[in-house]
Amino acid sequence: MSSGSAIRGSRVGSSPMRPDERSEPAPRREVTYWCAAGHEVEVRFAADAAPPETWDCIRCGQPAGLDRANPPGKSRTEPYKSHLAYVKERRSDADGEAILAEALAKIRRRRGGE
Ligand SMILES: [Zn+2]
Repeated sequence: MSSGSAIRGSRVGSSPMRPDERSEPAPRREVTYWCAAGHEVEVRFAADAAPPETWDCIRCGQPAGLDRANPPGKSRTEPYKSHLAYVKERRSDADGEAILAEALAKIRRRRGGE
């Protein structure tokens, strides 16, 4: 039986992988983000890395920002604003036509009256 010696020969662990104890862990800093729901999210970054302006909240998934008083979720109304502007634009066009028609009617009435 040569299987026994084969197992013994393939022994692992004589030189275990050891972390280099001489290298210190990279310096880190904790950055706190706040989402629109008021959740506090603490994220650790390497000290020499610039933290992103927003971070997805781990609790509700909304974007969280560095400014607690002004979380990014609240200011995210641009698509709605542009839609509103589009509607206003169309409405002002319609209003413009109505005003024009009214003005024409007034002119006609005035002409007819005099
Ligand atoms: Zn949240």
